[in-house]
Amino acid sequence: MTDTTLPTARFTSYSPVTGKPLAEYPVEGPEQIAEAVHRARRAAARWAALPAARRREHLLRWKRRLASSMDTVVATVSAETGKLRGDAELEMILALEHLSWAARNAGRVLRRRRIRTGLLAVNQGATVVHRPLGVIGVIGPWNYPVFTPVGSIGYALAAGNAVVFKPSEYTPGTGVLLAELFDAAVPEYAGLFTTVTGAAATGEALARSRVDKVAFTGSPGTARKVMAVCAESLTPLLAECGGKDAVIVAADADLDAAADAIVWGAMANAGQTCAGVERVYAVREVHQALCDKVVERAGALHPGAGPDAAYGPMTMPGQAAVVERHVKEAVGAGARAVLGGGEPVSAEGVGPVVLVDVPEHSAAMTEETFGPTVAINSVADLSEAVRRANASRYALGASVFTRRRRAGAVVASQLRAGAVSVNSVLGFAAVPALPFGGSGDSGFGRIHGADGLRAFTAPQSVTVQRFTPPVNLTSFTAPAAAKTRVISLVRTLHERR
Ligand code: NAD
Repeated sequence: MTDTTLPTARFTSYSPVTGKPLAEYPVEGPEQIAEAVHRARRAAARWAALPAARRREHLLRWKRRLASSMDTVVATVSAETGKLRGDAELEMILALEHLSWAARNAGRVLRRRRIRTGLLAVNQGATVVHRPLGVIGVIGPWNYPVFTPVGSIGYALAAGNAVVFKPSEYTPGTGVLLAELFDAAVPEYAGLFTTVTGAAATGEALARSRVDKVAFTGSPGTARKVMAVCAESLTPLLAECGGKDAVIVAADADLDAAADAIVWGAMANAGQTCAGVERVYAVREVHQALCDKVVERAGALHPGAGPDAAYGPMTMPGQAAVVERHVKEAVGAGARAVLGGGEPVSAEGVGPVVLVDVPEHSAAMTEETFGPTVAINSVADLSEAVRRANASRYALGASVFTRRRRAGAVVASQLRAGAVSVNSVLGFAAVPALPFGGSGDSGFGRIHGADGLRAFTAPQSVTVQRFTPPVNLTSFTAPAAAKTRVISLVRTLHERR
């Protein structure tokens, strides 16, 4: 953000691979944020007044600019998070797909619609339209610093809002780049999308800045703090938080496919994925065979930054200690580490860990581990698998592997999760039209899809009286006897229907 009130305090971003400084950024506070929100509000008025088709053109220009600058964005993401190029490229193409969908579908999803008026209002015409809220404050995490915020920023802009974005203090360069590329692609709307940099205090100042909604992605602990701040001004909040996603493996599952997906879902991006695989419930008959296949595949992976590494180091230095604690505590409580687990943390990163027979009350089963670990427990049948999968305070994503399509659908309908993939992991993330979000400690509200567009709007209802009704119930001049006749007629109809 450039303005006349440049802050003096600065902070440094570091490479998780080398530990060396990458760049410095301003710590922006209430004053800079107020200025950004003010500019955003001015730009939002012009942006919201545009026909949806024009907004779509502008957003597609930004999307094309992001695509042609993909190498720069990917390099910045890799430098700041330590994730491998392939992981960064994957999140980038997911973000492009979502941005494209939001831009192309906002007009259709949010347009004015005619509504049936019903018996009491036959003289009225009724419509509803979804109008933008104004300025959206987006607070983002570091683990998917492009895909995750674009899931809010792209949809909020497509719905006709302006955005002030506070990226994670671990990935400020990526956040700044997203806004710079927007300004380069859509120079006529300067201020419509601004990035402000800083850590918790900057996020808190944004939540306090009287934006029209906050879209927060991060941990449930921080979501609680943001919600408390938003409560002061009744600022609405959308909270996308962590997960403890379970995979259920039925006796008839394709075990090779399940093992392959479990290993990728648990280990890709060093396990730092909100909807990554953390727990597996396999029915007894196939538990051992599945464990063997998972161990065989996961055993071939190792962390690092070199060309043969499967995933990068942990982005936050402190997260390796969390992984270590979960693994040690689980083993202390009776779990078996069938892969890794002795010294999971090395200079290269955290090696893959596969735990079996993990007590359900241990942190490895109840808290988000956010590392390349997976716990595989045996269950008697699918009912027990569903019961255990649902016994979590998180409820974000889940998967089920079975060859029987009907059984897959039944299990999906029983799972307490915002999204379920049958015979894949994270299948839902690549479908922009599907809403995404959770409940419990996984947060509330939805991003992506039509619901994700509507999340950044408020419906406005309009009625137009087409003719004066013979008996006007909302007039003091209508005869009382006629009103009584209408009321009793409607009552009789409702008693019979
Ligand atoms: P975090 O909660 O530490 O931080 C998230 C953001 O909030 C950062 O920008 C941070 O600076 C800001 N922040 C911190 N304290 C704040 C405060 N008091 N007020 C306002 N803002 C504040 O989370 P993280 O470590 O950056 O991200 C990892 C978490 O995010 C994991 O739990 C992961 O599962 C979750 N996540 C969820 C999704 C999803 O879509 N559900 C996607 C990605 C990540």
